[in-house]
Amino acid sequence: MNKKRNRIVAGNWKMNMTYEDGRDLAMAIIDQLQPSETKVVLCTPYIHLRSVANIVNGISNMFLGAQNCHEAENGAYTGEISAPMLKSVGAHYVILGHSERREFFGETDELLARKVDQALQHGLKPIFCVGEKLEVREAGKHEELVAQQLRNGLFHLKPEQFREVVIAYEPVWAIGTGKTASPEQAQEMHRHIRALVAKKYKQEVADMTSILYGGSCKPSNAVELFSQPDVDGGLIGGASLQAGDFVAIIQSA
Ligand code: PEP
Repeated sequence: MNKKRNRIVAGNWKMNMTYEDGRDLAMAIIDQLQPSETKVVLCTPYIHLRSVANIVNGISNMFLGAQNCHEAENGAYTGEISAPMLKSVGAHYVILGHSERREFFGETDELLARKVDQALQHGLKPIFCVGEKLEVREAGKHEELVAQQLRNGLFHLKPEQFREVVIAYEPVWAIGTGKTASPEQAQEMHRHIRALVAKKYKQEVADMTSILYGGSCKPSNAVELFSQPDVDGGLIGGASLQAGDFVAIIQSA
């Protein structure tokens, strides 16, 4: 892990936690957390955003994130939530392009590029997810696929916009499966991503881009994953729902 870049551990609660459970979880995380330079982002379902904003407000290096936003600013899109709405309740980050959104909600790279634009326009930092399915890795096409996801979803941005983006590499075969990428596999892909960013923008931009690893990250494997030179923290699903595990992962960063 490089000291120049922001170290970030983001928890993706997905569709879990009642209102009360969410509030209790956020408070338990704060109780157990030791001050550190790692930025912690709680990416909660929409219903929790306001209450968790009140809990994390004023705590240094703690931020609120959402898990999605719509590509339009407002309008007749029943059931949807826009970037300015998220900003208005105190969100700083938004996860975009999570593999579950790509898989279950048909989100394409082109749609995601529009969501990225909306998020940035309204002052939200995208945590942009990329990653391959198992068959793509087995066919040896994982680096090519991730390059395509980056080109289509992010590389239209100007350098000053790109600086606001966090990238999360999440191999789909590792998400929620208990199978983690080995530290070498994670490092290899993170180095590839950073090289692509350097080629498109400048090395200086690539050197400042935080690239998180996600996929069955837990206290027992976080130290090794986070010690890779191009791994700048993690996007954590299941283990972010237990305050003790999540805090242990943060402390590994
Ligand atoms: C995720 O869905 O972003 C994720 C990394 O999940 P898990 O940690 O449960 O594999």
